[in-house]
Amino acid sequence: MEKVRLGRTNLVVNKMGWGGIPIQRVGEREAISVIRAVVEMGVDLLDTARGYTNSEHRIGLAIEKLSKPVVLSTKSHVKTEKIYEEVHESLRQLKVKKIDIYHLHNILSFEDYKKVTSPEGALYGLRRAQREGLIDHIGITSHNLNVLVKALEDGYFDVVMACYSFLEPEASEKIFPLAKARDIGVLAMKPFSGGVIEEVGPALRFVLSTPDIVTIPGSETLEKASENWKIFSAGKPLSEEDRERIEALRKQFHHHFCRRCDYCQPCTEKISIQFVLGLRSIFKRFGSQAQEFGWVKSLIERARNCSECGECLPRCPYQLPIPDLIKENLAWFDREVARPGRE
Ligand code: SF4
Ligand code: SF4
Repeated sequence: MEKVRLGRTNLVVNKMGWGGIPIQRVGEREAISVIRAVVEMGVDLLDTARGYTNSEHRIGLAIEKLSKPVVLSTKSHVKTEKIYEEVHESLRQLKVKKIDIYHLHNILSFEDYKKVTSPEGALYGLRRAQREGLIDHIGITSHNLNVLVKALEDGYFDVVMACYSFLEPEASEKIFPLAKARDIGVLAMKPFSGGVIEEVGPALRFVLSTPDIVTIPGSETLEKASENWKIFSAGKPLSEEDRERIEALRKQFHHHFCRRCDYCQPCTEKISIQFVLGLRSIFKRFGSQAQEFGWVKSLIERARNCSECGECLPRCPYQLPIPDLIKENLAWFDREVARPGRE
């Protein structure tokens, strides 16, 4: 099974790790047994986040008594040095004394990047945690590749995490060569583009055929975890059939799939466009409990203010019909998800 060295961290792990978003959707007992099975199968890197509700906690319960070592990767959205307290909370939840990789979670704009790297910013909080031996390596995750390019150029981070799938292949040109040249590790998230791609085989073989990166598909059932693991351990290259399927799916999604890059911002009504366009994928990954999250409710309500001014349209490099997609997604939410009797 192919191993990858995660740049200057010198951590050597399987080319396929595991992502902790989906286990939020199942009961605790099932989640724990899936995580244990995943580690027993041979997965040696588990990724989670403070923001994934009970994911850190469940991983902590699952790995507590396991003898197999795993690399733990987690993250926090906190942008100030108070992230240091988040590290302590992650350690408590994961029930470990040290975390291998701690990331700044989804730094989308240059404004936020400036904030997290300023003297009172989160990077300094993580450096303090690193000095005190609470974390080994510092990473950054973003859906905005330009922010990751800046992070790679600055060299503050040991690992970067970017979206990468056959629907979002841009990181292979923009991020991976630069990371390799600077000896910075790469974790590639969302091999199924947040649940949009249902063809597991072509999607995984596509990311697994890219050198020097570690992909982290999530799974909430043993069946899915085993399927992913089988594809990884078979080590087969992309077939001609895979390539044809990928081309067909790329055509199908080209003008409908939001790459979450935020290039369309700022919206005149302060709508989080990528959030609304990714609404179905959010509910697919987090389950219907997502409608109870305060931030989800407020972002949906704000999206209802879209005035169809069209200012965002020329800024989207993929020519997505943004106002139409917002309407479509809100109608889907009202029809399929919102509880009966919602005002
Ligand atoms: S069309 Fe809607 S989403 Fe686009 S900028 Fe105007 S208000 Fe914002
Ligand atoms: S709508 Fe277009 S520009 Fe905006 S986040 Fe999605 S892909 Fe990027």
